[in-house]
Amino acid sequence: MEERMVNFYRSFYGYKFTRIFRRPHQFQNTDKFRIEYYVYTPNKLYSLVKHNSGFHKCLISTYSYGIGPLVNKSRLKENTIIDRLFLDFDITLEGELSDLQKKLNKLREYGCNHQKVRQDEIKEKLRQSLLKDSLALKAVEEAKYFAEKFKESFDNYPILFFSGFKGCHAYLFFKPVNLVNPNLTISDFASRLKKYLELDTMDLSVNMDPVTRLSRIPYSKHELTGLSVVPFTIDTPYEEIIENAVKPEIELLRLENHLSNLDSHLINNETILLENQKIRSENLLDLKPPILNSYKNLDHRIFFENLLGWPARRYDYYDMYHCPFPDHEDLNPSFTVYEKIYICFGCNRKGNYWQFLKEYNDWDDNQVNTYLKKVLGGLKV
Ligand SMILES: [Zn+2]
Repeated sequence: MEERMVNFYRSFYGYKFTRIFRRPHQFQNTDKFRIEYYVYTPNKLYSLVKHNSGFHKCLISTYSYGIGPLVNKSRLKENTIIDRLFLDFDITLEGELSDLQKKLNKLREYGCNHQKVRQDEIKEKLRQSLLKDSLALKAVEEAKYFAEKFKESFDNYPILFFSGFKGCHAYLFFKPVNLVNPNLTISDFASRLKKYLELDTMDLSVNMDPVTRLSRIPYSKHELTGLSVVPFTIDTPYEEIIENAVKPEIELLRLENHLSNLDSHLINNETILLENQKIRSENLLDLKPPILNSYKNLDHRIFFENLLGWPARRYDYYDMYHCPFPDHEDLNPSFTVYEKIYICFGCNRKGNYWQFLKEYNDWDDNQVNTYLKKVLGGLKV
């Protein structure tokens, strides 16, 4: 078992890598519990999974931040090797099951052994519901449907995993690519997929900031059900997936059999995206922010109206626009501007005017300052 798991991690993550292992918990008041570890080898990863799975979520960085021990933590992202894309399909729980999940999480706040009998009872109920009510069926079917479609366009099947509870994951592999703005490019691709294939259960939030994203480790046990994260294919029947998750047999995967040609698609798309972003950002710079004596008590509705024009919808206390961020194709206006803050309910970005200028233009504080001083003619901002 041990050797097979190490071999599996070697085939899935490589001989050497730099990844973050995380085991988030619900405990109250625990400064002493170490949540994060750096992992560099499949052996170390195996031992972390062995000691934590079934009790805590076992997560790992989707990407390796370079190869081998990490020298400079602040330069993590620069060394990211983009060789895969991670997608999450998940069902939202309702009613009794959602209550059970909350109850179990609540008990967990006092430790994994607090009222252990009660914890085990709830675990068993969740497990039974997975088996009998086919809780994860819709997510599994959507992932299979997605896999078929993906193969049609990109040459190979993704690797699919059942999550151990109510969802599943897909990993799309390709030759490592150099992307200028991987977060933008990947989140754009993911939101297009969801839209065009109408994937209801696909959770886009995992692709908001994919470079730092962590994902559940294959063959770790889910902390709420005790079921393992196991691979499946488009031909595996639901019952068989669950049986395998109860008693996993470790299968060695060959990534080279899953290499798609998504890499060239991503590179082409990025070129277009960056070009669009440049055009939009130039247009934005043509528009003047409001000239006021001071930005101290700035009404953000005035700021954004000056920048983006007349809002798509205007209400008593807020205005709504089509989201100006280029990676969010916002057909129904979800970019909402209140007096003190903006929030986009589509892509979840929020902040004040300063943060907007920073994020939109990819600027640092100095650049925002210079820009505002220039357009405001030397006024204090
Ligand atoms: Zn948005």
